[in-house]
Amino acid sequence: MKFRLLPSTFESDGTASSRQHFSCFVIDGCVALDAGSLANGVTPSERAKIRDVVQTHAHLDHIAGLPLFVDDLFPTLTEPVRVHATREVIDVLETHIFNWSVYPRFSELKNQFGSIIEYREIAHDADFRVRHLEMRPIPVNHKVPSSGFLIQDGRTTIAITGDTAEMDEFWDVVNSLENLDALLIECAFPDEFEDLSTISHHLTPAKLKRELEKLHRATCPVFAINIKPSYRDAVARQLAALGAVGPQILEIGKQYSF
Ligand SMILES: [Zn+2]
Repeated sequence: MKFRLLPSTFESDGTASSRQHFSCFVIDGCVALDAGSLANGVTPSERAKIRDVVQTHAHLDHIAGLPLFVDDLFPTLTEPVRVHATREVIDVLETHIFNWSVYPRFSELKNQFGSIIEYREIAHDADFRVRHLEMRPIPVNHKVPSSGFLIQDGRTTIAITGDTAEMDEFWDVVNSLENLDALLIECAFPDEFEDLSTISHHLTPAKLKRELEKLHRATCPVFAINIKPSYRDAVARQLAALGAVGPQILEIGKQYSF
């Protein structure tokens, strides 16, 4: 399974930054998990192939690219962009984004080939298929209704938390798996922002360490994701200080093969 975190932010010389303002992962070049930098971070090939977007939740850094991605494709879409999300997330998109005030309600529009956008409602703990992938949403512990996901392609299984604070059900599901090829877990804030992380339902390196103690699996590559850009250096230092029990940081723009 190929997995890439899209770049979203740029240095003064125009090169991609290691700092992540938006969250958008591209799986096997054709499925997007979250849509933060979907409009500006994809390659032309990815833009041509991605017609399925799976949303963890509806916070801005995870949906920001969706309106412009659909807008860019509007005249050329021969099939709709399918947004796979829980009812709560769909309602936020339709009420607060695609509401004719912030952006057009694409679900009411058609081009010469048909619909522009379609919602595929997903339910927690119910598997659904996206292209060649089998996905299972698992409720996690964020400030708004949010899902982590198991993603399987028949050979490889990965688990990703999305934004979250401390979890229980997610670990129960992950620990029940026969095989896990990679775990991606958020770490938004450094330890000195523990209060803010608690209020906003995010993790810090110290909290992440306690979460990983719930993972009953001897060996599994673990990657930290969704690090707030302003605190990336501090989070990276604190994760490195965890030593062997700490995760690697998922590199922005790199194509991983799990
Ligand atoms: Zn969030």
